[in-house]
Amino acid sequence: MILHPPAPDLPNAWAGLSFAQLIKDVDDRLQAVGIEEAELDSRQLLSAVFGDDVWQKIAEPKAHPAPGQLPKLAVLVQRRLGREPLSHILGSKGFWSLDLEVSADVLTPRADTEALIESALHLTHDQQTGTVLDLGTGSGAVLLAFLSERPGWTGTGIDISNHALAMATRNAAASDLENRTKFSSSDWADLPDANYDLILSNPPYIAQNELTELEPEVRLFEPTIALNGGPDGLDAYRFLSKNVSRWLRQDGHFAFEIGHRQASAVTHLLAAQGQFTKLTGSKDLAGRDRVVCGQMATKTQGKGKH
Ligand code: GLN
Repeated sequence: MILHPPAPDLPNAWAGLSFAQLIKDVDDRLQAVGIEEAELDSRQLLSAVFGDDVWQKIAEPKAHPAPGQLPKLAVLVQRRLGREPLSHILGSKGFWSLDLEVSADVLTPRADTEALIESALHLTHDQQTGTVLDLGTGSGAVLLAFLSERPGWTGTGIDISNHALAMATRNAAASDLENRTKFSSSDWADLPDANYDLILSNPPYIAQNELTELEPEVRLFEPTIALNGGPDGLDAYRFLSKNVSRWLRQDGHFAFEIGHRQASAVTHLLAAQGQFTKLTGSKDLAGRDRVVCGQMATKTQGKGKH
């Protein structure tokens, strides 16, 4: 169900308010529609309009916004009241040490996914140079964060969405990583065999019938293709467990983000291939299972192509 909050005449309601009163009003309105991080969001929305020094203005009881700026804030607040993600409204999201452009064409990078970067760094700690493949790169977040920490490495990001690839390409340039990245459009199934040192992926892993339970920001505004993991949420892992060996060198590693209840199912799918060693999991900051990694043992020719 799409939420249609009434559209109050916000600039009028805000007339004469100080910055401190204004942020309180925005916070109250966001809370009233059930937004959890209302205070944080209000701060960011005000900063987007009034600049980063809005803090000083809020602390100064006599400071008032120029009335001409209120309509701009009203547009942003109205979008947030309609549960549009803050990242879409601001057009960017911080991930790892990067500031990435995002939109409705890509999954907004989550803090949870930093666990995937930690795992990838752990797997490659003593390897000076190498090549990495990121399957379903979206905004490029995973690939770019990894490469930002591994200056001797180069990487390829694959996505089926050309809009996502255009954004990932811009993000690589903005992160000064364009010389070490390549992006290409492909269905994973059509990728030619290769010998990457490392394969990373944050694939879609929400079970189809759970998509309707996601919060409105995700359900209504984020790309379903990046979320829908099929009937039990494990379709992508079935594909990856059968095919990842096609693109990995012998002894190469992989790390996949998983849903927090999927560690044992994903580990079993991978173990059933008989090609991998060191299958291990790791957790996100909230202590939930978030990553499964492993290593390619022996490269068996002709196996796992279907
Ligand atoms: N963790 C994401 C969410 O819950 C899902 C990401 C994914 O399917 N890869 O919104």
